[in-house]
Amino acid sequence: MAEPERIPCPVCGEKIIATASICRFCGEQVGEVRPSREEGDSTGGVIPYKNMPALIAYYCGVFSIIPCFPIGIVAVVLGIMGLKRAKQHPEVKGKAHAWIGIIAGGIFGLIWTATTVLGIIAAAAGR
Ligand SMILES: [Zn+2]
Repeated sequence: MAEPERIPCPVCGEKIIATASICRFCGEQVGEVRPSREEGDSTGGVIPYKNMPALIAYYCGVFSIIPCFPIGIVAVVLGIMGLKRAKQHPEVKGKAHAWIGIIAGGIFGLIWTATTVLGIIAAAAGR
């Protein structure tokens, strides 16, 4: 087995493994500190915190599965807002969330609206 490459620690000068991120002699951080992919975004952009309409649209879309509340309409409106925001500011992300909100909210919003309308018609016709 080959000896791992050793470099002198930039802080204390002791020989340390080149791939080490912390010097085992002085405990200082050495080597390159991995830059975070997103400034101030620990989730790596999975959750679009900077695009609230898209995020809320996503949750409204998910919750629009529950009948009896027209939250699907809210999801569609917020989803469109989120998409516009993502278009104007690509760094805010959230396009996927916005689309999920629009699609889920649209489908379930339509289903529950249709169900409600048909229910009212049926009730009215039954009188
Ligand atoms: Zn050191």
